[in-house]
Amino acid sequence: MNICVIGTGYVGLVTGACFAELGHNVWCVDIDEEKVEALNKGIIPIYEPDLDKLVKTNFVAGRLSFTTSISEALTDSLFVFIAVATPPGEDGSADLSQVLGVAREIGKSMNEYKIIVDKSTVPVGTAKRVKEIIKEVIVERSADLEFDVVSNPEFLKEGAAIEDFMHPDRIVVGVDNQKSAELMRELYQPLIQKGYQLITIDVLSAEMTKYAANAMLATRISFMNEIARICDAAGADVEMVRRGIGSDTRIGPKFLQAGIGYGGSCFPKDVKALIQTAAELGVEPKILEAVETVNNKQKTRLVEMITDRFGKNLAGLVFAVWGLAFKPCTDDMREAPSIEIINNLRNRGAYIQVHDPVAMSTAKALLGDESIIYLNDKYDALQNAVALLVVTEWGEYREPDYETLRNKLNDPIVFDGRNIYDPMTMKQQSFEYYAIGRNGTSIQEMEESN
Ligand code: NAD
Repeated sequence: MNICVIGTGYVGLVTGACFAELGHNVWCVDIDEEKVEALNKGIIPIYEPDLDKLVKTNFVAGRLSFTTSISEALTDSLFVFIAVATPPGEDGSADLSQVLGVAREIGKSMNEYKIIVDKSTVPVGTAKRVKEIIKEVIVERSADLEFDVVSNPEFLKEGAAIEDFMHPDRIVVGVDNQKSAELMRELYQPLIQKGYQLITIDVLSAEMTKYAANAMLATRISFMNEIARICDAAGADVEMVRRGIGSDTRIGPKFLQAGIGYGGSCFPKDVKALIQTAAELGVEPKILEAVETVNNKQKTRLVEMITDRFGKNLAGLVFAVWGLAFKPCTDDMREAPSIEIINNLRNRGAYIQVHDPVAMSTAKALLGDESIIYLNDKYDALQNAVALLVVTEWGEYREPDYETLRNKLNDPIVFDGRNIYDPMTMKQQSFEYYAIGRNGTSIQEMEESN
């Protein structure tokens, strides 16, 4: 089948490459000329595991093409995916200008029946607005063209995006008629055949499903961060509590890690947008507001711990930071906790030495170079530092060479924002160790004694 994906960012590029891999012919469109030129030369603009291989194979096979022209991509495509960004507006609601602008462009370029697929995360009711805009433009053109608009929210996780697309927990499709339901099933047939579940629901519910999913995940994170604060105050250990509750099948073990809050391009903006949607609909979103408040506070938890240890004035002190991306396996730094932590420490007069396996150039563009040194070797970042801060739980930070860590740091002090180390090991290795909601109990040791 012929597909066109408008917006070639994290979601659009992954969607396009994966559909091509499933055997469809895909046009990826972007207004960013440099990005399209780079993609046509085989340069992948983002870091996502295995994406470069997938893009190159399908590009060479002729199933994946890149262009800046919507009309070129649209002509032969039955499916037109909208995968542009929906950033937060000033009041926190989703800014739909890119989505609605693309809807106009589709209306201008359409030549025959199309099925327009909202893949961007958009507030409930947006498919209806997209439909109205396209209709308006078609009427302006005095044309007589049929089309359907469906909602197909994306649930991929950055860092595991291809895996998630190719092995989805579920595919959600929101439709308002039988024809589009059948066409969407046909499109996803290669995955359905492998046993993956496609859930067909109404359009409004599909739009809500995406926000409800992200809000639920964000809620679990803020919930555990609040529990971690209570653990800290009470002397309990949040990792023990996590094991205790995660084994309950009604709760499940995932998304229960305490840490320094959620970031990224989705949870913060989607929680904000859902709060706005609720308010517009006259519903008071008390839980969602609390989720956001707890998260904002948690992002500075490490700084709180540092100022408790070193005092509020950090002038002249050097801190090493491991991890900049909002989570491992991505170079995405949108709303990453590292930004707030680093800026807060710099404002207190500290110098920062940072390392991240893939997000350093994104970080340089965002944070500049005032009071920051970027180092390609994680151990070099420790030189002359009074403490190490673990901000992103990259795999390569989990098993450090403890001797090098101790010797390179001025003082063997570690603030672990992701609870990746065993407190007992850190004690045995003579580190002064601070983590989130932990009381020093060793999980390893407890397991051995059980
Ligand atoms: P992104 O910013 O990485 O990519 C958007 C792309 O759209 C950019 O390359 C931009 O140049 C392009 N664009 C903007 N206007 C355009 C136009 N008129 N024509 C063609 N291209 C245009 O965004 P993203 O992270 O891929 O997110 C896209 C949508 O998917 C958002 O609504 C987001 O909430 C949702 N989503 C994102 C993720 C994620 O992990 N990133 C996961 C699920 C859903």
